[in-house]
Amino acid sequence: MIKEKKSGQIIVISSPSGGGKGSVISGLLKNDSENRWLSVSTTSREIRTNDIPGVTYNFVTKEEFEQKIEEGYFLEYTNYVGNYYGTPKEFIKEKLDAGIDVILEIEIEGASNIKKLIPEAIFIFIMPPSLKILVERLRRRGTDDKEKILKRFHTAYKEINEVSKYNYVVVNDVLDEAIQKVESIIKAEKCRVDRIEEVYVDTKEEEIHELLMDDKDFENEKLSQKIK
Ligand code: 5GP
Repeated sequence: MIKEKKSGQIIVISSPSGGGKGSVISGLLKNDSENRWLSVSTTSREIRTNDIPGVTYNFVTKEEFEQKIEEGYFLEYTNYVGNYYGTPKEFIKEKLDAGIDVILEIEIEGASNIKKLIPEAIFIFIMPPSLKILVERLRRRGTDDKEKILKRFHTAYKEINEVSKYNYVVVNDVLDEAIQKVESIIKAEKCRVDRIEEVYVDTKEEEIHELLMDDKDFENEKLSQKIK
């Protein structure tokens, strides 16, 4: 009865540092690695101990990043807490055409640039249960010193106020529940009317007539109703 669009969707996921979007995204990829792909961003920030170059990010120098900006390499890029971060254009179209959903794990300015370019993308904000928990998570992560944590906290504070620019907000208190909520959002988005390419009638009216005429039980039922 309906023909759905075969292309994948862009799913933009943002949260303040320590908001837990990384864990949510890992869960999404574990649930369906075949039909989902996480874009690997390029950054000029320093490599942290838990980073895997080429997997968590592609690391470049500030100069190399600026060169790539000039070459038109990025779909979007931003300067976040003093470092460049950007989404490369490469692979995105191929993945979408192959019906694979593309996940972009980016901050709010990048998300707002994607919204201008691709308004039909899905924008999800992962919210920490409280700012206190957020700072705790940043401290436990142990990747930043006190000054950097404060900087990230201030940025997080500003980011939380931008939540209304997103389509959905999911509080990440219990991780599995947060993952399930995002799964539900993705499922619901697949049923959007604007994802329908075509509505068609799969049976002709004459065929329905024939079907009903051939159905003796249906005819008898009608007859007995008339007698009553
Ligand atoms: P972190 O330094 O903690 O890895 O990332 C800092 C912030 O940059 C996070 O909010 C992360 O989502 C964001 N980010 C990572 N890659 C990109 C990107 O390609 N574009 C934009 N706009 N933000 C990104």
